[in-house]
Formats: sequence, C-alpha cells, structure tokens
Amino acid sequence: METVAELQQQIRELKQQKRALILAHNYQVPEVQQIADVVGDSLALARAAAARPEELVVFCGVHFMAETAAILCPEKRILLPDPEAGCSLADSLTPEQLREWKARHPGAVVVAYINTSAAVKAESDWVCTSANARAVIEAIPPEQEILFVPDMFLGAWLRAQTGRRIRLWMGECHVHAAMRFEDIRAALQRYPEAEFLIHPECGCMSATLYACAEGSLEGRPLVVASTDGMLRYVRGSAAEEFIVGTEVGLLYRLQQENPGKRFYPLKPDAICPYMKRITLEKVLRSLQEEVFPITVPEDIARRARRALERMLAL
Ligand code: SF4
Repeated sequence: METVAELQQQIRELKQQKRALILAHNYQVPEVQQIADVVGDSLALARAAAARPEELVVFCGVHFMAETAAILCPEKRILLPDPEAGCSLADSLTPEQLREWKARHPGAVVVAYINTSAAVKAESDWVCTSANARAVIEAIPPEQEILFVPDMFLGAWLRAQTGRRIRLWMGECHVHAAMRFEDIRAALQRYPEAEFLIHPECGCMSATLYACAEGSLEGRPLVVASTDGMLRYVRGSAAEEFIVGTEVGLLYRLQQENPGKRFYPLKPDAICPYMKRITLEKVLRSLQEEVFPITVPEDIARRARRALERMLAL
C-alpha cells in the first residue's frame, strides 16, 4: 500500500502533467488540503474556479460546490472525486418545494444559501454564502419580503442582524445543528482565556446571541464568521487561544497559518461525513480517469448563474 507522501507525489506529478487545478474546502482532511492549489470556503473556491486558467478542475468538496463551479465555468471540466459527497443541508430543499413556497408568497425575493442544488439556485433571485449573506440581504430593497433557504439558523441570525422581514425554510446542516449551548458553556469554562468563534449555521446560534446580549458569555466577545472570516479574524487578533465553533477540518488550516496560537474545537465530533469521503486515493483516481464529471443542464445553469453572478458582483 502506498504511503501518504507517495500518493501526494503521484497527484502532484499528474496534476502538473494534465495542467489541472485542485481546489479543497476548509473541511477537507489535512492530507488533501496539502495537495490543493487553493484551500478556502465556498465563496473563495467558486471565485478561484472562475478566475484560474486551468481547464481541468478537481473539486475536493461536496456536490453542490462542484455544481457551482460547473455553473460559473461551463467551458471547464469539473471533477468531483466521489459522487456520493453530498450535503444534508442542500438535501433539505428540493426545487419543487421551493416553487410551491414561492407560489404562497408572490412578490417575495428568494435568497438561497450557496449550500443548495443547482436546480434550487435556478429558482432563486440571489445566492449568498456565510461570508456575504448580510451584504446580500442589505442589497435588497427594505420593503421587500425575503424567503431565505435552506438554513434556518443562518436565516434567523440574518433576521436578528438586519431587522428585515425574512421567512425561514426549516433546513439545517446536521453537523452544525448538533452544536448546543451546553457545549459553549462547557468550552468557555474549560478555556477561560480563549476567544470564541462561531459559524452562523450552528444550532446554538440564537441561544448564543441571546446569552451574549444579556452578558452571560462571561464578558467574552462573540465572533460570528464564515470559515474564511474566522481565518482572517485570527490573523488580526492578539489573543493566543480560540474556541472554534464549526466543522473540525478548519482547525488544521488555523494551526498551519498560526503556529504560535492554540485552537480548541467547540465540539470535537463535529465531523462532516460527506467532506471526509474525499481521500487521496480518490483524488488520484479522479485525475487518472477524469472522474466524476459534474455538469448542469444549460437551462438550469443559465438561471442559477444569474443568481450567483448577482452575488459575485456585490
Ligand atoms: S458541514 Fe454541513 S453544510 Fe457543510 S457540507 Fe457537511 S453537511 Fe453540508
């Protein structure tokens, strides 16, 4: 059996030979992050797929991310090393359900979190990520009612932040939804010097904001951010310890970029089984056999691209 170093060497050689680009999400396992040309959140990877010149792209992430790259770069060949790498949040809303919800709220503007299928994006007016969701909501005229899909925790946070009329679809990511306020209390007590970073998809979001407002977070500041937002925050912070409320894959990158600082997962078992389906063996096979190509029917891609480009233009 080949070692990690041997597999990585083979991937690097083949990548160069085929002039391919490897993109990896922040939640990928460390050995996959190490062979990627770009590591980032959904927004950074979507931008990289569109901006880079390579025509063959191996997307180490989940299905909706590869679909997003295929929508933005129809001329490129986008490969997903494991076609079963899905997302419980994206699966919580079908295009039929969205069409039916829209029919009950005519005139409302639909904002879809990027964790949605291409077919759901095609039914939406805007796409957003956790990094720019607030800016997207604020770009919509204030009198407009908004249907936010599919993450209820991110939507509730946006409603609290902006005071806008936002109806929520009751979807959730099972990894982030499992983070509870009791986990926060325990972590704050265990690491009294640490700053506290939390992703807005977390199930404890509303309780945490409430506790923060009433001053029961032991006076510690609360940083609500996307994964790339957390990386930026840590770079600029003078603190040396951080509690990280998101999928544990991000801790590898945080530690690599900040070797002098210490990071503690809010929930050590917050592991996305879909992200972890991508292995070095599968990345190598993907490059060798050019599998599994992700394509989006032109009619769906055209409508989804409109919603995505509106976001990218912000
Ligand atoms: S962490 Fe949650 S939202 Fe992200 S890919 Fe996994 S299931 Fe989907």
